[in-house]
Amino acid sequence: LEPKEEFEHSSLAVDVMRPRRADPALAVLTQEGMTVGEVETLVESTHYSGFPVVVSQESQRLVGFVLRRDLLISIDNARKRQEGVVSASQVVFTEHAPAQAPDAPPPLRLRGIMDLSPFTVTDHTPMDITVDIFRKLGLRQCLVTHNGRLLGIITKKDILKHMAQIANRDPDSILFN
Ligand code: ADP
Repeated sequence: LEPKEEFEHSSLAVDVMRPRRADPALAVLTQEGMTVGEVETLVESTHYSGFPVVVSQESQRLVGFVLRRDLLISIDNARKRQEGVVSASQVVFTEHAPAQAPDAPPPLRLRGIMDLSPFTVTDHTPMDITVDIFRKLGLRQCLVTHNGRLLGIITKKDILKHMAQIANRDPDSILFN
């Protein structure tokens, strides 16, 4: 990322995060209750590099973040090796396996591949601070919350695009800032 002098100081995380108003909702996984088949469908119907994990769709409380490639590899391995893991198996990111019906297929436990402390900023965090954090911590993405609810995601590419937009709109701001 280029030095922050090129950055418009009035932008906030909420201005740069995805999804935008017109976009489809943020693609998230729930920490329990989704099946292997549902997770595969979600992952394969998008190209995102990662997915936030939340307590539930209603709460949108952030639990962690999983990378697309880790999810696909783990599901693939489990289907090949783990006794009884099928499309109907429940995917579980919680510490303890939830109670299941006795005849349910064994759950696929994926807490091990989840980043338990993904970096977050609030929607009102100024972008110059966010960019600083990206640079200093070498982040690839950061999640955006409001009052503890997950709102969106900012990737390094989103920031670069936003900077390019600002530069196009107002070339003088680069010189005078
Ligand atoms: P990159 O920005 O490097 O292409 P991604 O492929 O992960 O990284 O993201 C592509 C776009 O989709 C970015 O604008 C990003 O903010 C957004 N995005 C990333 N993950 C998700 C997600 N789980 N749900 C919705 N949008 C996402």
